[in-house]
Amino acid sequence: MQTADGNSILKGVAIGPLRIFKRTEAEIAALSTLTPAEEAARFHAARVTAMEQIQTLYDKALGEVGAADAAILVIHQMMLEDEDYLEAVRRIMEEHGGTAEYAVSAAGREFAAAFAAVEDEYMRARSADVRDVSRRMVNILTNRSDASMQDSRPAILATDDLTPSEMVRLDKSKLLGIITRHGSSSSHTAILARTMNIPALVGVDFDESWDGKMAALDGYAGRLYVDPTEELLTAMEEKLQADRRHMSRLRELMGKSNATLDGREIRVCANIGSVEDVELALRNDAQGIGLFRSEFIYLESEDYPAEERQLSIYRRVVEAMAGKRVVIRTLDIGADKQTAYFGLEGEENPALGYRAIRICLTRPEIFKTQLRAILRASAFGPVSILFPMIISREEVREAKALLAACRADLKREGVPTGELEIGVMIETPAAVMLAEELAEEADFFSIGTNDLTQYTLALDRQNPSLDRFYDPRHPAVLRMIRHTLEAGHRHGCRVCICGELGSDQTMTETFIRMGIDELSVSPSAILPLRKLIRGLDLSRPQENTGD
Ligand code: PEP
Ligand code: MG
Repeated sequence: MQTADGNSILKGVAIGPLRIFKRTEAEIAALSTLTPAEEAARFHAARVTAMEQIQTLYDKALGEVGAADAAILVIHQMMLEDEDYLEAVRRIMEEHGGTAEYAVSAAGREFAAAFAAVEDEYMRARSADVRDVSRRMVNILTNRSDASMQDSRPAILATDDLTPSEMVRLDKSKLLGIITRHGSSSSHTAILARTMNIPALVGVDFDESWDGKMAALDGYAGRLYVDPTEELLTAMEEKLQADRRHMSRLRELMGKSNATLDGREIRVCANIGSVEDVELALRNDAQGIGLFRSEFIYLESEDYPAEERQLSIYRRVVEAMAGKRVVIRTLDIGADKQTAYFGLEGEENPALGYRAIRICLTRPEIFKTQLRAILRASAFGPVSILFPMIISREEVREAKALLAACRADLKREGVPTGELEIGVMIETPAAVMLAEELAEEADFFSIGTNDLTQYTLALDRQNPSLDRFYDPRHPAVLRMIRHTLEAGHRHGCRVCICGELGSDQTMTETFIRMGIDELSVSPSAILPLRKLIRGLDLSRPQENTGD
């Protein structure tokens, strides 16, 4: 038996085979042992296979998402027929005497860079398509499957790192646990693992020879066991059973209120990142969706998601919640949440860069598509809209003006919409300092403690070596929360915490005493919080003030 330690993302246990995923780019052989004619024949055979694969995907997409969204696959086919592209592959093969996959990869990079540099937004977005087509061709030429991160058996996935956009594409039914060599515990990949209730460890120095071996991941101890002994395996299975028994005891709280012993009620809602997560929210008796991170819809897609597609997702969430409020946060892309078709440039300081509302206000055509979809979804049940990364009153006013323009357009088109509450995320020190003014623009505040901690403490939440300094319970952050609450309440604004600190049970009593109206947390944290809240008595002095 061997062991490796890491930082735990979720207290839970996973038992199963380890599947080690290695990134492939570096494996592409530059030099060929075949003749140029043989490499050219390999290239053309792969091109035929790629065309067939794309045709199959197109037929499937046509039924599922309609012709408009499926059209992107036609563009992929056209690229494989493009004379300039074919000529570039031929030239690279001749100049380098290399393999077909080397030439495809190099030509793909050339074309993707050229598209990414053009002014026209539509053409810039084609850069992602070139990369997609190249990846497909390389996979065919090197006999790798497209979904090479996972295979058909459920497994614990181990990889150097995992981006949020890779994470949302994984098949959750085959994902027992996650191990990464890099990555911080407050990254979005970690947050997604928590939301989906998947045991995960980051910062694990695993050995590649462990691929395929039996493993047990102990999220309580932050340890991975490889080739566990019978004794260890039995102990892990017992932990797993104990977890299940604990969960079924918590289920007895379904339908009960979140009221303290002395009668103070607070709302406990769920954070979700996809329509699939709604089931977890319902199973854990969420009082609503307090944060729908809509950017994951964009990360799952190969191109800007159309209004109809977004509407169908929001509508499904709203209808599933059956009258309970759904807070949809507008696109918060950028920083660690990257997807190629946005054509975002590399930045020196991405966390301080072009992200969230800054992208939406400078690219209103993208923003308006989302605003229209959210407005239309509000006709099917109570919906609130939440603007992220706000630093000024003007930004809120500009976003509201775009929303009003979209509402007027829809009215003119005879498309029904409903009431929409306006929320502002308080996740920058600027927003805290302007809380009085922002409260005049909003119906509610949602405090994003993940970013608020990052920006208040000047600590990159993505950097794993800063994990020990990243402290959301820092007195400066807690005072910001208190200030926001007081300013919000003075103006009749409800105040929620939707960052990860909301599920920190050592803080629950402090937040309730401060007067928080709502906590929005990952679905699996809801019932444990309910249990805790129901045992609190605010009429007695608090033992530890936490501030
Ligand atoms: C936050 O910053 O606390 C938050 C809820 O948003 P995200 O984690 O998605 O940045
Ligand atoms: Mg945030």
